[in-house]
Amino acid sequence: MLSDLIKEVCEAVIAHEAELTALDSAIGDGDHGLNMKRGFSELLAKSDELAGQEVGAALKAAGMTLVMKVGGASGPLYGSLFMSLGKELAGKTEIDQSVIAEALAVAQAAVMARGKSQPGQKTMLDVIAPVQQKLAEGAALTDVAAAALAAAEATAPIQALKGRASFLGERSIGHVDPGARSSAVITEAACRVLERSG
Ligand code: ADP
Ligand code: MG
Repeated sequence: MLSDLIKEVCEAVIAHEAELTALDSAIGDGDHGLNMKRGFSELLAKSDELAGQEVGAALKAAGMTLVMKVGGASGPLYGSLFMSLGKELAGKTEIDQSVIAEALAVAQAAVMARGKSQPGQKTMLDVIAPVQQKLAEGAALTDVAAAALAAAEATAPIQALKGRASFLGERSIGHVDPGARSSAVITEAACRVLERSG
């Protein structure tokens, strides 16, 4: 299961390279697709090694790889997210939806601390926060995925207040945030695998 989870998440991110690049070209510097592809290709190359570890250790190692390989603003933020998730899930044997929700709450706080940011500022947090909330409510995984996709789309009318896009001021309005979109892509792939494996 862990092996499928890693592989399908990585493949989804890599498959969306062009779209993420296009989104970041509109309100950033156009590197989000390449940044994410570089990081998740490295995870894919390491997937057997990662999947051989306990979930917590695998997520921590994945986070460290992302910090080193993704770069940009998003690398340390996704790195914090996955390292924090790994730390929370380490040693847990019964990992159900409520345990994942609790771990994601801590990981979301880690991203907020690292980014000095909050949901509502047109960033990846605009997807991470509703995903955490849906998981905590015990929503079906298909609904969690749908909420993530909708939340990414809903960043379009927001004016960016953090990151490179904030330099555009009002001109950032009308475009989906690239990091929100990549978070939705990751969520959708993860929910698909988790749903399938029960
Ligand atoms: P860079 O902006 O350095 O080129 P990327 O293009 O890889 O890095 O990533 C940009 C994405 O990172 C944004 O779309 C946004 O979602 C996310 N981001 C940037 N700054 C922050 C922040 N302070 N808090 C949360 N997310 C952020
Ligand atoms: Mg960029």
